[in-house]
Amino acid sequence: MSNALPDRVRPLELARTGTRMEGELALQGMDRLAPSLARAGEQVQVWLHFGCDAQNVRYIRGRVTTTLELTCQRCLEAMLFPVDIAVSLGIIGAAAEAERLPGAYEPLLLDESESVSLKTVVEDELLLALPLVALHDPSECRATEVLRRLRPEEGAREGRRPFVGLAELLKTRI
Ligand SMILES: [Zn+2]
Repeated sequence: MSNALPDRVRPLELARTGTRMEGELALQGMDRLAPSLARAGEQVQVWLHFGCDAQNVRYIRGRVTTTLELTCQRCLEAMLFPVDIAVSLGIIGAAAEAERLPGAYEPLLLDESESVSLKTVVEDELLLALPLVALHDPSECRATEVLRRLRPEEGAREGRRPFVGLAELLKTRI
């Protein structure tokens, strides 16, 4: 997939014509996301469909996928964080309309002829998908082994625990 996506689009016009688009966007230049990234070399794959549903909600639906490179807050090394986001934005003309949007939609506030930056829309989705704290799975984190060496007594205690239970069990069996 190598289609270049337009920088700015007019979602309401595209919804009227039922436009579909797909392509890639660079993570580079997403300035709000950048502080969370260890590296911003990746591309984001984007599929979007602009349309109008049976309840007359004009929407942007689609999918955004990429792999973010975050920094694990336990070992401070890079960790890969794949994201696959289902996009479902309901376009509203005033904040008050948000309450009337069906639950499947996140509100996107727009004036009738307003254009939006696709990169901003995609960056918003990625920001929402970020973990609260980026952490490797303990089995993949280098800090797990370091912590085990720093606190061996804790590991030993944990290691003995199952045998305590076993001894109890054997006692009752004998
Ligand atoms: Zn880690």
